[in-house]
Amino acid sequence: MGKKYRVGILGATGMVGQRFIQLLENHPQFEVSALAASDRSRGKRYADACQWRLTGDIPVCTSSLVVQAPQPPLDCDLVFSSLPGDIARQTEGSFANEGYPIISNSSAYRMDSDVPLLIPEVNHDHLRLLEAQRKRRAGTKGFIITNPNCSTIMLALALAPLHTRFGVKTVTATTMQALSGAGYPGVASLDIVDNVVPFIENEEEKIENETVKILGNIKGEAVAAAPMAVSAQCNRVNVSDGHLAAVRVKLDRVAEINEVRDAFASFTSLPQEIRLHSAPEHPIIARDEPERPQPRLYRDAGTGMSITVRRRMPDTVLDYRFVVLSHNTIRGAAGAAILNAELLIATGWWK
Ligand code: NAP
Repeated sequence: MGKKYRVGILGATGMVGQRFIQLLENHPQFEVSALAASDRSRGKRYADACQWRLTGDIPVCTSSLVVQAPQPPLDCDLVFSSLPGDIARQTEGSFANEGYPIISNSSAYRMDSDVPLLIPEVNHDHLRLLEAQRKRRAGTKGFIITNPNCSTIMLALALAPLHTRFGVKTVTATTMQALSGAGYPGVASLDIVDNVVPFIENEEEKIENETVKILGNIKGEAVAAAPMAVSAQCNRVNVSDGHLAAVRVKLDRVAEINEVRDAFASFTSLPQEIRLHSAPEHPIIARDEPERPQPRLYRDAGTGMSITVRRRMPDTVLDYRFVVLSHNTIRGAAGAAILNAELLIATGWWK
């Protein structure tokens, strides 16, 4: 086995940070060497600072690391960030300026023109934006890449094969988003038991803006947004993990329903071809049972890295409708960031 890269995790005690630690245990290319969180946690052993909310125990190699402040220097080669958006911009920027590659889950840099908003199966060519970023950061080796919002990832991944084959003109998506998407402790139990909350701050705008950047093409040193209208409505539901979205699409050209199914089921891309460690064999699993997918039954498909699509039907208002499900803290967050890091290494963008 070759050298392992040492990684630092910012926001290590949160829902996404914990998922990073779980997914990185025994990873062939990465080992966790530094952890950072708020001043509530600083100076404590990770096991004492963190309210571990995942199944299984905290990995032994991580439990005794001492939580530090999220500021450079940290003893690592690469930084994964799962900080809240409001502090991420300044903090992640300072790491990049000090020469660290940052792979971020937060929204702070996603829409910057020279920052790749990456889903390796969909827009790995957007890594070329790093050339513009390197010019801007002349003199440092640091850079920032981001993964999309957790609902955007499943929507853009599901739309990608439709857009390539048929062109997508119009999209409406109504999400039903899990509680872990709000972090810990998240939504108060009295607000969500026996209830649905039809509002998630800034979520609809993120889905609408990020989707067209991801599905757009590079023009010069930026991405020209895909020419499609995207409309999202977001709801918080009483499910622990796994976001669901009911989607309707209008296509540029007429497609038979079996062509739509085939576009989903046969979709693979570079991460599968070059066999990245975290790439699922099937990024999109097309199911045929009418009552699927359900979060509890399918969120762990492809060890949480596959999305599941079902109820592909002609639609009387737009052309087709379907339901898509994804694990929000794996494919929608930590797993997505780790796949981005594997892609960076495999394609030589980070040496
Ligand atoms: P979370 O559970 O609330 O965790 C937040 C983390 O940030 C904790 O480690 C916390 O440390 C740390 N933190 C908070 N304020 C800080 C400060 N002022 N200085 C330093 N560290 C601070 O949130 P999360 O769900 O993991 O989400 C983290 C980020 O990922 C957010 O930007 C979110 O939008 C994004 N994201 C989340 C999901 C998801 O499904 N949850 C999916 C995609 C993207 P302490 O424990 O010490 O307070």
